[in-house]
Amino acid sequence: METKPKKTIAPRVDMPCQPADVRAHNFDEVATGYTKEMAMQEASRCLQCKKPLCMKGCPVEVPIRDFIGEVARGNFDAAYRIIKTTNSLPAVCGRVCPQEHQCEGKCILNAKGQPIAIGRLERFVADTYIATSACEQVTGTNSCAMPVKGKKVACIGSGPSSLTCAGVCAANGLKVDVFEALHEPGGVLIYGIPSFRLPKNVVATEVDGLRRSGVDFHLNSVGGRTFTVDELRKEYDAVFIGVGAGLPVFLGVPGENLVGVFSANEYLTRVNLMKAFRPDNPTPIQKVRRVAVVGGGNVAMDAARCAKRLGAEVYVVYRRGMEELPARKEEVEHAEEEGIIFKTLNNPVEILADENDNVNKIRCIKMELGEPDASGRRRPIEVPGSEFELDVDCVIMALGTSPNPLIKSTTKGLEINKKGGIVVNEDGLTSREHVYAGGDAVTGAATVILAMGAGKTAAKAIDEALSK
Ligand code: FAD
Ligand code: SF4
Repeated sequence: METKPKKTIAPRVDMPCQPADVRAHNFDEVATGYTKEMAMQEASRCLQCKKPLCMKGCPVEVPIRDFIGEVARGNFDAAYRIIKTTNSLPAVCGRVCPQEHQCEGKCILNAKGQPIAIGRLERFVADTYIATSACEQVTGTNSCAMPVKGKKVACIGSGPSSLTCAGVCAANGLKVDVFEALHEPGGVLIYGIPSFRLPKNVVATEVDGLRRSGVDFHLNSVGGRTFTVDELRKEYDAVFIGVGAGLPVFLGVPGENLVGVFSANEYLTRVNLMKAFRPDNPTPIQKVRRVAVVGGGNVAMDAARCAKRLGAEVYVVYRRGMEELPARKEEVEHAEEEGIIFKTLNNPVEILADENDNVNKIRCIKMELGEPDASGRRRPIEVPGSEFELDVDCVIMALGTSPNPLIKSTTKGLEINKKGGIVVNEDGLTSREHVYAGGDAVTGAATVILAMGAGKTAAKAIDEALSK
């Protein structure tokens, strides 16, 4: 029988945040993090279950109960080492993992509506003991394995899947080169997730750790253009493809080509990577008054909250209801507090423009929810004759992304599935010998922790294959 909470459990310790009216005008991190006292207080709520259900919810099986026990005793160093045995980017995961659907969603205290704040504790521990070397990140020891095996691995892309693959390969004594299309490494962690959710120095620290362990980064290097997988294979013993799923999906409604319509990826890249929010930036973003963000996931929340910080009034237009929003609950709450207006149960049918082709309205139709569809969610159905218009001068489409076809179209024999994802076996091996893949490029848009898990699996398989 599983341990049941018998005694009265203290309430969950709130995360300190910048006030909503202040943070809605800056790009500093919203959640400012637990203090030592808060972390110990929250950790002491943990029941230290004999069979910790929380671990079952973690895709990389962090020994959650054990690290929380160390935090409760004030042993943060020990807690850090426990986390690092299975998670190479805890400062990132503690901030962006959908914990309510993973570890916290399985915590036994959920029955009381107050699960242990596992993500916040993970972040506290990682921030307290920020990693100093990549080998420490993956092996939990300070002794860096040097490239002794004489074998070389190339990783294409530098998101969480490739960073994890590179870190594990380097710690196993392989020489790793990472080839990234953009001018900064980090993937979505750098160009997509805004700094008010994930400060860029957190990602830069992880990348620096990899550099110190001998991983070389080649930026502005586009697989399928600057080089091909076949060319890499001539020089490297194995190749890992971690190029993500950066191809935006559009609705297919009239007006999507008008001036002032962005994909969320382009908008977020301009704001985050190209720092368009700085007025002195050489590539500033157009100043707009009213923005409609179409979609309801994390990407939509990030785009909406960036637009708010840039001074616009922002609507989130979503075809299902508030309950069905796929974004993390905390992000939705933060967005509401910051004044984002949710126009749920509405769907765009057309984008309209002035005489210069600049967006000036979005026409929507009201929706109602019918029976559940194949995804298990209630199907949105149009309400006939319910069209209306919203005055907006910018529309951001945040409807999802799919894998970019560039690598596939330039790599002979690389098997692809119907959704454009690279086909791999359980070790991450593709249909090409010694060519591995993982993360969003395989699964389509997913999560950071799943991409990391795939990078780790492939790295282990690469090490085994190259050790024969
Ligand atoms: P990516 O992170 O996409 O990295 C791929 C890298 O490959 C990029 O740097 C890209 O420039 C590079 N690349 C692409 N093509 C080439 C090429 N031909 N040659 C060389 N390099 C190339 N997940 C969560 O768990 N929590 C969240 O809160 C969350 N929020 C998100 C918010 C946004 C705005 C977005 C877009 C995604 C979010 N996700 C979130 C999803 C998560 O970020 C992704 O699932 C994860 O980053 C996938 O990792 P990856 O390594 O597969 O690819
Ligand atoms: Fe039990 Fe929750 Fe603590 Fe895990 S975090 S050991 S499920 S009380």
